[in-house]
Amino acid sequence: MSDLTHFIGGRKVRGTGRFTDLYEPMTGAVIGRAPLAGAADVRAAVENARAAQPGWAAVNPQRRARVLMKFLELATRDLDALAEGLAREHGKTLADARGDIQRGLEVVEFCVGAPYLLKGGFTDSAGPGIDVSSMRQPLGVTAGITPFNFPAMIPLWMAAPAIACGNAFVLKPSERDPQTPLRLAELMMEAGLPAGVFNVIHGDREAVDALLDDDDVRAVAFVGSSQIAEYVYARACAHGKRAQCFGAAKNHMVVMPDADMGQAVDALIGAGYGSGGERCMAISVAVPVGQDTARALLEQLVPRVESLKIGLSTDPSADFGPLVSRAHLERVKGYVALGVEESARLLVDGRDFRMQGYEDGYFMGGCLFDEVTPDMRIYKEEIFGPVLSVLRPQSYEDALGLVNAHEYGNGVAIFTRDGDAARDFASRVQVGMVGVNVPIPTPLAYYTFGGWKRSAFGDLNQHGDDAFRFYTKTKTVTSRWPSGIKDGASFVIPTMS
Ligand code: NAD
Repeated sequence: MSDLTHFIGGRKVRGTGRFTDLYEPMTGAVIGRAPLAGAADVRAAVENARAAQPGWAAVNPQRRARVLMKFLELATRDLDALAEGLAREHGKTLADARGDIQRGLEVVEFCVGAPYLLKGGFTDSAGPGIDVSSMRQPLGVTAGITPFNFPAMIPLWMAAPAIACGNAFVLKPSERDPQTPLRLAELMMEAGLPAGVFNVIHGDREAVDALLDDDDVRAVAFVGSSQIAEYVYARACAHGKRAQCFGAAKNHMVVMPDADMGQAVDALIGAGYGSGGERCMAISVAVPVGQDTARALLEQLVPRVESLKIGLSTDPSADFGPLVSRAHLERVKGYVALGVEESARLLVDGRDFRMQGYEDGYFMGGCLFDEVTPDMRIYKEEIFGPVLSVLRPQSYEDALGLVNAHEYGNGVAIFTRDGDAARDFASRVQVGMVGVNVPIPTPLAYYTFGGWKRSAFGDLNQHGDDAFRFYTKTKTVTSRWPSGIKDGASFVIPTMS
């Protein structure tokens, strides 16, 4: 059993205060401890970041991009080891762990385009002898606070653009699976990033509050549950920081009567139960339109949920592995019990699943509820486990209304062969990311990622060109040289008239 360290100023720094145990979800065994930073540790990380940032900002964008290119090479070299470590501490399958890292690396690839993306504007002769230019400058020290469910992807979605833009970055990863993010920061340094530009501090609310209250932190990116996202957003804004905070989800998949039912069922099984439902883009609500569609869907869906293969992260034939922690497993099972109390029909009950030889692991099987109604808590709240709810609206308009009335608006999908219906849905649905016959419409790195309503707080999305806006401030310079200046003071605001 080993203790994890913080990573501050390019050095491993041992924790001196509180610690938290780290568990292996497959066995339930303690596999190490992570320090929980106090205000002094956070201050040390921010101080180091502040000291390193001006030097890093002075490195030209192309050389900064080369560090990211080298990082891509190193992360690819270490992909197997990274995926094994990630799967072990999170519980997701190895194939899914690779996907987690890969989706992070795709954003790093995008950020290699920083020299182009940071280009400013220039207008020659905007007025008599007057030129106007604009430039993007880094903010200084930026911070990221990340959730347990994508321990590689989300830290990279924040760190890569922050660093590419010339900022220093302090990451506070989830205290449930903090080893992979730490390893990523070490690889960045191996790739040539100067010490202090990427720091990692482990911790809980105390560390988060210290970051939010630190005047040297100019921007905060957060991903996690909505309640904390809202809290972080409000506190960061109260301290005059720029903030983007992404929260929870309840993603619907509308199945129209004309949909290819086989494809819809495949999509629901993968998007509903992949990674044990611990994805912010997981489908947690199936919405077949009309009773005939519901019957046809459930006829195929029920046996598929019953035959899901739950296994060890290392088992290549497993559909999904254990959940992240005992507390989370109990919480998810609690929601299933609540659904039964609320009179939803539990068609498949995976609560009693036991993994032979791994009885202390955090395993459960897939669950499927039918006849769920909008007033039930299992519909209103995010469960974040392998639990799918079926609602049965009578019409397309009712289905659309259901999605639009939900407090979350992260992702949504429609399955149909009807182009008019798909187009109407994409246009009117109040959700940030929409799939047409695509169950998990996670945008590619060069588009932006973000939900609507209570799934996101702040204006700019993650990755794509929004990331370059979030991690820079714009300066506009208006120049006139002596030969273009006419004599005399002017007391009137200049206009183009
Ligand atoms: P969480 O909110 O419990 O934790 C997220 C981060 O906040 C962690 O770093 C944690 O240490 C910190 N934190 C926890 N409690 C805090 C408090 N009281 N004060 C300050 N900081 C605190 O979330 P989680 O369980 O790690 O992750 C799952 C959640 O993240 C789900 O709700 C999921 O939908 C959401 N998520 C959203 C997106 C998105 O892009 N919208 C992506 C992935 C996950």
